[in-house]
Amino acid sequence: MTAPYPATDKEPLRRLTSHELRFRRLQVVSITPVTHRLTRVTVGGAELDGFTSLAPDDHVKVLFPPPGADEPSFPEVVAGHVSWPPGRSRPLARDYTPTRFDAKARELDIEIVLHEGGHATAWLRKQARPGAILGVAGPRGSHAFTRVPSSLLMAGDETVLPAIARWLRELPAGTDVHAFIEVNDSRDEVPLPTRANLKVRWLHRGRAEVGTTTLLADAVRSAALPQFEYAFVAGEAGAVKHLRLYLLNELRLPSDAFSARGYWKRGTDDHQEPHDD
Ligand SMILES: Cc1cc2nc3c(=O)[nH]c(=O)nc-3n(C[C@H](O)[C@H](O)[C@H](O)COP(=O)(O)OP(=O)(O)OC[C@H]3O[C@@H](n4cnc5c(N)ncnc54)[C@H](O)[C@@H]3O)c2cc1C
Repeated sequence: MTAPYPATDKEPLRRLTSHELRFRRLQVVSITPVTHRLTRVTVGGAELDGFTSLAPDDHVKVLFPPPGADEPSFPEVVAGHVSWPPGRSRPLARDYTPTRFDAKARELDIEIVLHEGGHATAWLRKQARPGAILGVAGPRGSHAFTRVPSSLLMAGDETVLPAIARWLRELPAGTDVHAFIEVNDSRDEVPLPTRANLKVRWLHRGRAEVGTTTLLADAVRSAALPQFEYAFVAGEAGAVKHLRLYLLNELRLPSDAFSARGYWKRGTDDHQEPHDD
């Protein structure tokens, strides 16, 4: 087990930069299977001009068309204020990590985990095709690093894999990273290209239902990790709670030395936790 952390008065590692809120009407460029349960959707269009995502755990709100419709409805945004005119129904919207943005090609990638009962999964199975229209709102803000930490802990399930993979692609050489990733089995594992010194542990839940295990917290707790400067943990809300308690109560990490966020909650549609971006 890792020893508790001493208190420090160092400058916070991350600072919030806010971005202009825009709802972008974009076309699906391509749909690419990453694994049998993870699909990359590339969207593009001139409305991506000005898109900004400064941190790998940023998120965008993806607006999906309702069944049978060609595109989602969009709100009006005046001076940063979002309003839905009477009679215009709000579309189904879900949070995704912007994994790659190419300003020149005007393309943005998101990666969607397929699961039973998922509205985004239903869209992928029934409506997704090149040329289909999606809305993308945000990111509203990015918690960018004020300096790159020398060592990081990352832990999450497959919904966090797109963010973890982006962190790893962006971190410079010399950064030490211990990553713990919970998935069903080896078919969910993906290559994680990085210049960082990466030690990754894939945790297989096997036949256990997703969102019912304590695999992540158990593995992090028993790993005897060297002290790390920053921790990024996310995933199913219950699993994240175990990790958050470990970081706070046992390691006594200061709250600005980690981010712990439930990305989804078993049994709840469109789970939302308070956040400041
Ligand atoms: C900051 C942030 C970044 C995120 N990035 C990504 C990302 O890059 N890729 C990604 O796939 N997800 C990501 N998520 C999680 C995603 O927003 C949720 O999983 C969302 O609920 C998916 O919507 P849905 O339409 O599939 O399911 P919903 O309609 O929201 O839920 C339907 C049912 O499915 C369950 N459910 C939801 N997600 C899962 C799951 N992954 N596995 C099994 N059951 C589930 C719910 O508990 C509910 O019972 C992110 C969330 C946040 C907050």
